[in-house]
Amino acid sequence: MRRPASPPPSPQKQFGALRASLLYCPKCKSATPARERLLLVLPSGNLYEYLCSECGTTTGEKTDQAQQDVQLFTP
Ligand SMILES: [Zn+2]
Repeated sequence: MRRPASPPPSPQKQFGALRASLLYCPKCKSATPARERLLLVLPSGNLYEYLCSECGTTTGEKTDQAQQDVQLFTP
């Protein structure tokens, strides 16, 4: 058995924006770094879910208001 010097890269590439914001986790009973995950893409905005980076419990969610595409009709 050999141990790699560094941990393998996270497979969760789709997490994209990894924020170091701390959210309270009821399981860990402390504020833990939250991982942002895109949950749903809605016409009104994207629904994001925050997961505890320690145990994966959902610690919060937010709706990102989609930027209204200004419809410019150029003749
Ligand atoms: Zn946790």
